[in-house]
Amino acid sequence: MSDSQPNSQTDLLIQNGRVLDPSQGLDQQADVLVQSGRIAAIGNNLEAPGATRLDAAGCIVAPGFIDLHAHLREPGREHAETIESGGRAAAAGGFTSVLAMPNTQPVNDNAAVTHFIVQTAQAQSPVNVYPVGAISEGSRGERLAPIGEMREAGIVAISDDGRPVMNSDLMRHAMSYASGFGLTVMDHCEDLDLSAGGQMHEGFTAVRHGLAGISAASEDVMVSRNILLAARTGAKFHVAHLSTAGSVDMVRQAKRRGLSVTCEVTPHHFTLTDEDVKDYDANYKMKPPLRSRADRDALLEGFADGTIDAIATDHAPHPGSDKMQEFEMAPFGVIGFETALGLALDRLVHTGLISLPRLVELLTVNPARVVGLDRGTLQVGAVADVTVFDAERRWSYDVNQSYSRSRNTPFQGIALRGGPVATIVGGKIVWKLGG
Ligand SMILES: [Zn+2]
Ligand SMILES: [Zn+2]
Repeated sequence: MSDSQPNSQTDLLIQNGRVLDPSQGLDQQADVLVQSGRIAAIGNNLEAPGATRLDAAGCIVAPGFIDLHAHLREPGREHAETIESGGRAAAAGGFTSVLAMPNTQPVNDNAAVTHFIVQTAQAQSPVNVYPVGAISEGSRGERLAPIGEMREAGIVAISDDGRPVMNSDLMRHAMSYASGFGLTVMDHCEDLDLSAGGQMHEGFTAVRHGLAGISAASEDVMVSRNILLAARTGAKFHVAHLSTAGSVDMVRQAKRRGLSVTCEVTPHHFTLTDEDVKDYDANYKMKPPLRSRADRDALLEGFADGTIDAIATDHAPHPGSDKMQEFEMAPFGVIGFETALGLALDRLVHTGLISLPRLVELLTVNPARVVGLDRGTLQVGAVADVTVFDAERRWSYDVNQSYSRSRNTPFQGIALRGGPVATIVGGKIVWKLGG
């Protein structure tokens, strides 16, 4: 966390943008003045002699985007990504904060690894990195990790992501324990017995490709179990990368009952379906897999009716040497920071499904609330994490220009309408379009 120390940087005046901040119901043409790394004023015709000026005419000025789900691979798999390269890719995608999943090598299951991530991020990452601690030692699903000491060291949530927690009793204990610390439990919901050997979504396309299927039920069973346990323990439970119609409906019902259940959906799951899986190309292989059209449409409905809380990338870098092999041999996962906003604008906003304020809510105040971060707002006095984006800019994605060390994307060459323009962390411009 490159946190809140005011530094001696110059002031910044972001001029003439449409300031859109759902945390305070703000949507107006205005300037934003940043002083000493914090939001100092929002208003018209602000004056700030000596301040750096950023022209935001025609652009949206929003709180900095927060990604609840990313894999930065450091420590242990620096050939795939580092905290620095991942941080740069996040900044280029408009993200000012990312949550780093614990399935590094070693696993972030103790305070020493948490400290390493926090310190490396402070020294090298242009964006805030918030570590997620493992639920169990080594994420092996046997014994609880020392959650309290990791909390002291800076984790903001717990998850065994990369693996689901198969043992229901362990999950129950994790939830009881986490709620004592006010920590959210995130789970990769997958019953490994039901999904065993699966390569892609169970359905017609899998049969045609001759690939073993991963059923929607393998996700739904675990979402259902976790909601039951959250109701029993009073824990804050968050469904990672929700992908099925059944799961979105269970989250909808849980919210109606007043449970602290939230969920995130990735851009690849709201954009693509299993029918898009092409020619055994492992860039379409991820977990959960690309689902059916009916599942994808249910996700879209969940965005429209408010069931889905956040867009999260599940940025999961793998080097070409791992991904460029037979579909069955290749690891699961795709990168996602730099395409997230463009896909969301293109597929959710420009199609008329959701409004721009709702999109900004999905990327800012909502993810902040899921884990209780003091971010996702442009309130005067808040740390000046700001994302400036152009909802209309037409561009196409070239992964070869990516800041990530990995190239595993299904979106190479995709034409998009809308994308980031500038990313500001703690009052400092850390990425700028064309800069
Ligand atoms: Zn996962
Ligand atoms: Zn993940």
